[in-house]
Amino acid sequence: MTELITQHLNEPQHEAVTAEPKHLLILAGAGSGKTRVLVHRIAYLIETGHATPYSILAVTFTNKAAKEMRDRIEALLNRPTQGMWVGTFHGLAHRLLRTHWKEAGLPEHFQIMDSDDQHRLIRRIIKTMQLDETKWPPKQAQWFINNKKDEGIRPHAMGDQDDVFNTTMLQIYETYEKTCQQSGLVDFAELLLRAYEMWQNNPELLAHYQARFNQVLVDEFQDTNGIQYAWLRLLAGDNTHFTAVGDDDQSIYGWRGAKIENIQRFTRDYPGTYTLRLEQNYRSTSTILNAANTLISHNTGRLGKELWTAGEKGDPIALYAAFNEQDEARYIVERISSWVASPDNKRSDVAILYRSNAQSRVLEEALLKAGIPYRIYGGQRFFERAEIKDALAYLRLMANRHDDAAFERAVNMPTRGIGGITLDIIRSQAREREISLWQSTENLINSEHLSSRASTAVGQFLELISTLARHCEDLALEEQIEKMLQTSGLLQHYQQQRNEKAQARVENLEELANAAAQFTPPEEDTRTTPLVAFLSHAALEAGEMQASEYDDCVQMMTLHSAKGLEFPFVFLAGMEEGLFPHQMSLQEEGRLEEERRLCYVGITRARKKIVMTHAETRRLHGREMMHAPSRFISELPNELVEHVRAKAVVSRPSADFHPRPSFKTDAATNIAVAATTIDGAPVQLGQRVKHAKFGEGVVLNCEGQGEQARLQVYFESVGSKWLVASFAKLESLS
Ligand code: ATP
Ligand code: MG
Repeated sequence: MTELITQHLNEPQHEAVTAEPKHLLILAGAGSGKTRVLVHRIAYLIETGHATPYSILAVTFTNKAAKEMRDRIEALLNRPTQGMWVGTFHGLAHRLLRTHWKEAGLPEHFQIMDSDDQHRLIRRIIKTMQLDETKWPPKQAQWFINNKKDEGIRPHAMGDQDDVFNTTMLQIYETYEKTCQQSGLVDFAELLLRAYEMWQNNPELLAHYQARFNQVLVDEFQDTNGIQYAWLRLLAGDNTHFTAVGDDDQSIYGWRGAKIENIQRFTRDYPGTYTLRLEQNYRSTSTILNAANTLISHNTGRLGKELWTAGEKGDPIALYAAFNEQDEARYIVERISSWVASPDNKRSDVAILYRSNAQSRVLEEALLKAGIPYRIYGGQRFFERAEIKDALAYLRLMANRHDDAAFERAVNMPTRGIGGITLDIIRSQAREREISLWQSTENLINSEHLSSRASTAVGQFLELISTLARHCEDLALEEQIEKMLQTSGLLQHYQQQRNEKAQARVENLEELANAAAQFTPPEEDTRTTPLVAFLSHAALEAGEMQASEYDDCVQMMTLHSAKGLEFPFVFLAGMEEGLFPHQMSLQEEGRLEEERRLCYVGITRARKKIVMTHAETRRLHGREMMHAPSRFISELPNELVEHVRAKAVVSRPSADFHPRPSFKTDAATNIAVAATTIDGAPVQLGQRVKHAKFGEGVVLNCEGQGEQARLQVYFESVGSKWLVASFAKLESLS
């Protein structure tokens, strides 16, 4: 049996899987089999009796990875692995808190806030503290609070601050904490800190878990942050065996406090740790691997390693220079369509990766138009859509009346004539008396401190929630949701707006009921009500409820969420300076190298093919920007990159016009386009021109009029480029 587990492993992998030492650190590059080793090691430990499933705790980075890990272990062992804890740091901490809510000082039905909820709550706190929101942006306070929590620092531990900034931040942090505690709300960073403190304050409980988990295995170790590392340290008792695997070149969460130093610290904190390296890459073609190796060699301060592969050379990396983001999306969809036209290929082989979530919308539209199903992981996730969050707010209030964040969200959605002044009175009383908004409203109604109109309006709202909660008690989860959608007025609110967007929202709301129908509470949540379990699920596993996992669809995600995954065909969209590397990284030291590591992660996701695209102009966040191609493109070896030539674009009058670098400007193909001029004469397609920087080239295409006119020119030196005619100062050579 163990032979089954250890076959298909190379020599160092075999050693890593079967190693005896107490602690093991595997440092190796992308695609070298780190995750594979982790999975096989778990199966090996169980099979050889070194561990039981019950004694294993394995941490990975995403829910998707955790699920895959469990499936693979079960496949190797050929039996289910109940009792084994496999999950993300957040997921595992949540599981602990659900089980030991009392010890953790939480209400039984505490609820999880995602970062959008958190942002709203902080914003409201800033408002009630009568601070100027423009001077004290909620985002900044959110950042501050999360950073402190990631470092394990509570407000009371911060002491007196000597400057205005820190004093104010501390006050916001204090008020925020109080509100969360009162409302039974827990944010993401709190999950970990709370679980950590719970162990610290309950030595017996900690001892129980220390004795239980004698095998702790961590994937993607390079991205653990302060509190995560501290949590692992605390858990490790005398019996604990650690296995950590990671790659310093793939550390991409420095901006969120992850510390590469944890890798070095590990060997210091756990003397006798055996360090192993893996150097053979099994994932990618040699072209892809060499491109990645060359790119990452531009970084300094690496632990240093070189990966090799016995794999085939494969296709060159294709590079497409798009005119704008629409053209980029069109090209990507075209490539996907021709890929899936072959019966051997699947849509799910294809991943579109991008730096920023905002890039997905245009790509989604193009895919929708082409009828290609897709699925987005992370990002603009199902449970983060506004209408879904509205619906969840009702459900949360039904589960817990003191959830202030939910109260704020639901009270006037849809509008029910509760004015801003009334709400301010409710808020300020809540703050003064340190009670929830719900209690404050009840008080104000009873003490007749509100105008009769206001009192009736808020009274009806309280009545609505209470009645709903009562009626739903004996209903199945999806019936509860349907009932809530009908009674709250939410569904009606969107049904009345007869536009497409509202229609999509109605569909999403209906999808929520479907999601609930398919939902089975995970093991750790069977103690709470299905509704509370579902709400935790919505906060923790956002994104899981779109097109079913088993549907064959194109995978879309940010580069950050692609970590650890692999796909035969990868698109890296938006390879532009300012977008990737991200604008912010250009101003802060160290960040550029982190962006480069992110690009390394992106490239090494691909097994067979990569297409990179960049757009010369891009509309993003409501602004039109012109960006140079990403420096990361120029850092790749020239011979591994193939420039895709622009094909016929709709705006061009002649359909069979086919640009080539050796293009001759004979009279037959010259077509006058009167949209703009060069040297006073109308531009002609095929006209030879000269640019101060790029040298000589041929006009391929023209779009727009006058000032707005853009020309596509094929330059011998740099390939095809779109230029704004009025800025380009082209000289005519024809
Ligand atoms: P990343 O750094 O991206 O997380 P990784 O080091 O975790 O990568 P894996 O995902 O474990 O790498 O492995 C990459 C691919 O190579 C997988 O498809 C895996 O099954 C395959 N692989 C690894 N080792 C071997 C081997 N010895 N024989 C065959 N295939 C292998
Ligand atoms: Mg991995």
